[in-house]
Formats: sequence, C-alpha cells, structure tokens
Amino acid sequence: MLRNTVAVLGLAAIVATAACSKPAGTLEAAADALKASDIKSIEYSGTGKWFQFGQAPNATLPWPQFDVTAYTAAVNYEMPAARVQITRKQTVDPTRVRPAPVEQRADQYVSGTSAWNMAPPAGAPAGAPPTPAPQLAAVEERTMEIWSTPQGFIRAAKANNATSTAANGGSEVTFTAGKNKYVGTINAENQVARVQTWIDNPVLGDTPVETTFSEYRDFGGVMFPGHIVRVQGGHPVLDLMVSAVKANPAVDAPVPENVKTATAPPVAVTVTKLANGVHYLTGGSHHSVAIEQADHVVVIEGPQTEERSMAVIAKVKETIPNKPLKYLINTHVHFDHSGGLRTWVDEGSTIVTHQMNKPYYEQAWAAPHTLVPDKLAQSRKAATFETVSGKHVLTDGKRPIEIHEIAGSGHNDGFLMIYLPKEKILVEADAYTPAAANAPPPATPNPFSVNLYENIQKLKLDVKQIAALHGPRLATMADLRTAIGATGSSSN
Ligand SMILES: [Zn+2]
Repeated sequence: MLRNTVAVLGLAAIVATAACSKPAGTLEAAADALKASDIKSIEYSGTGKWFQFGQAPNATLPWPQFDVTAYTAAVNYEMPAARVQITRKQTVDPTRVRPAPVEQRADQYVSGTSAWNMAPPAGAPAGAPPTPAPQLAAVEERTMEIWSTPQGFIRAAKANNATSTAANGGSEVTFTAGKNKYVGTINAENQVARVQTWIDNPVLGDTPVETTFSEYRDFGGVMFPGHIVRVQGGHPVLDLMVSAVKANPAVDAPVPENVKTATAPPVAVTVTKLANGVHYLTGGSHHSVAIEQADHVVVIEGPQTEERSMAVIAKVKETIPNKPLKYLINTHVHFDHSGGLRTWVDEGSTIVTHQMNKPYYEQAWAAPHTLVPDKLAQSRKAATFETVSGKHVLTDGKRPIEIHEIAGSGHNDGFLMIYLPKEKILVEADAYTPAAANAPPPATPNPFSVNLYENIQKLKLDVKQIAALHGPRLATMADLRTAIGATGSSSN
C-alpha cells in the first residue's frame, strides 16, 4: 500500500513536470534550463583577453589587446550590483615601440545608480591601500554588463515585459530596461546565445554591444557558457574562457559614503596666456589651446565630452570675443581626445585631422545618438574636414600654424603636433606629458617622448615652450630632454 502511494506520487510528479515544461527555444524554457529564477547571484571567473575600447592604434584597427590572467565577475541580480576584478597586461605588439606593459589590477563596482573603482589614490606610494573612487560615467556600461549575462538577460526580460518572436528554432527576445534596448537570441537548446544592446558614447553615439555565449556546460549544477565574447563599437572588448561558476554566492556591494555623495566635478577651464593671442586652456585632465587669427580663431583639441567642449567654447568666446571658431585641430583619434569633436562640428568649426581619421569620423558620426542626443544630433550639421598628412599650414597671412605628423610613433598612426614658428610653441598630446615640477625623471624614458624628440629634431623646430595637452604644467625642451635622458645633446 505504502509502495503504491509512493509510486502514484512519483507519477504525479512526473506528470506535473511534463505539464510545466515549456516549448523549446522560448524565454520560459531558457529560464528553466538556466535556473534563472533560482539564481539570485552568480560569480564566474576565467582567463582570456581584454581590449581597451576607444584606444585603437589607428582608426582602422581593433581596440588594443591585453592578456587577462584573472577575471572574476560577481553579480547580484536582485540589487542589482556587480563587482568585476581583472588582472591584465597589454599584449606586446612587436610592430610598435611602446612603453613596457605594466600589470593592471582593475576592481570595479556598480550598485544601483552608483559606480566606483577601488584603487590606490592617484600619486600614492606603492602599496598604498585602495580607496573608492566614484565613476559616475560608468553606471550605464556596468549595468549593461549585468543584463548581458545569460541569467541576467532572462531576469531583465521577465521584469521588463519582453516580447518574443520565433527565430531559427528558438526565439528573439526584446525588451527595454531604463533607456537601453536589449535583443537576445534563445537557441533551440534553451540557451541564451547572444545579447545585443546599445550604450552611449560621445564619439560613436548609440554604440552597439554584442555579447555571445557558447560552449555551455554544467558548472556544479548551473548551466553557464564556457566562452563569452563581447564586441563593442565593432571590435572585441572581452574574450573570456570561463573556468569556474558559483551559484548564489554572497555578493554585497555597499555603496561607499564618498560615492553616495559624489557629484560630477564642475567643468573648469583656466586660461593661461602663452603669447599674444595664444591661450592655454586647462582645468581638467585634458587641455586645449586657442590661437587668435586676424578674423577667426583656431582651437587645438576637443577632448572627452560635449560638456568639456561647451565649456572650452564658452571660455574661448569670452577670451577672444566676436570671432568665429573656424578650425578645430584634433591631435589623434583616441576617444578621450575626440569625444568633443561633434560639438565643434555643431559650432561650425572645420575639423583638421590626420587624413586617415576622416572616413572613420564620417562613418561614426552618421550613427544615431538617441540615448544621449548631443547638439549635433539636433542640428544635424554636416561635418567639414581639412586633412593632414606630413605637414599642413593654417595661416591668416601673419601667424602661421604648422601642423606636423608625429611620424613613427607607437602611440597612434594618425598623430599630429602643432608648432607656432613665431612664438616657438609646440602643442602635443600623449607623446610627452610633463611630470610635476619636483618629480624625479622616469627610470626608463617613454618611447613616445623619445620619438617626439626625434621628430622635433628632424623637422628642426625651434621649440621654447611645450604646451602639453595633459599634465600639470608648461614645459620646455630642457624638460623633454631630461625626461628622455638626453640632457647632454644639442640645444634642440
Ligand atoms: Zn592617445
């Protein structure tokens, strides 16, 4: 009798399971297969490659590659919150002379609408304990990473009334979380095979991010991909072989006090007169230079964001009133140096850049900017370019502005410096960044600075002042010689 009861109950359980099973390839079937509702948090780790978004060696190449010896992502889907730790080192590219790669240990957090990194404070001695540094601009990307995991995608799809359509024996599942749209592919094996979304970037606008998941296997009771590849802005940013997965670990990411109260620092632009009509515009991490011509103004560098460029534009107009900002010279395509260019296009400035960058900008700027509509997205003005290869001169007949390619630099292939022969001022970015006045010279010369020095010598530029677009102070040729250990050489 007892045995029969057990048998009947067992049969009932099987029938109940069968009744609950979902058509293969649907969101519901994937939710069951991946235990999405049981998994409140997940930790996955592995090794592979990481790539530095926005820092391609030239506009036609992928983002530069780093070898990842340790990667751990711990995600709390309920908060939502995540911590990602990466140990990485730039992969040596034998075709480029670059500073020797240094191991980096990133420790990145997001929790709700807060994001921060744990790192020793800038300028702290080696071994200083890490402190939380707010990363307000990283919230969108780090949140995207949470919903671009298999279980995270399913949870977000269910929470945001996703719609599904049948596709290739599985389904395509679409929803919007906040202002970001997600499109996921569920395959016939009830796996999340791919998640596509779009996040904002000042250069690329609505930037496609596509994460693909393959080689699913059972990691101690949880089905999870063994291989994750993420492509952002057309090139890989992550290629991870997963070696371990833990379901429901404790993932606690209390927001530090200084992060809770953090606000974006005010955008400050400080003007230093370098010569008559030549102004150094500093006040942030990235500087600009304004040069007054007879009936117009030439500005060097529109870095970072629209916010920075709007502040620079306002300061230039205040310093040099009633003249159009006719030209904006862009030193190179790295996104921290090109993120404000669209704002200058809207302002009516002609963009002066290396010839290899023009097709890239034209293509990039044609993309939609719906996530964060900038001024150009509204005005839809067409960009005008003047391109440089070798040497190019802008002049009003009185003050020539020489634009020279920095040849043979490992930093970037379309790399420009600007020289004012009358004032003997050189403007450059990333080739040489002056150290603080009392800092000792580097133990090993930076090859980008050595290359800059060689270019200055080859072109016989008589440089008295270097207005670097990074760094705490103006510099001289003597400073550059000291930095590269060339103190004994000629006056140039
Ligand atoms: Zn750069």
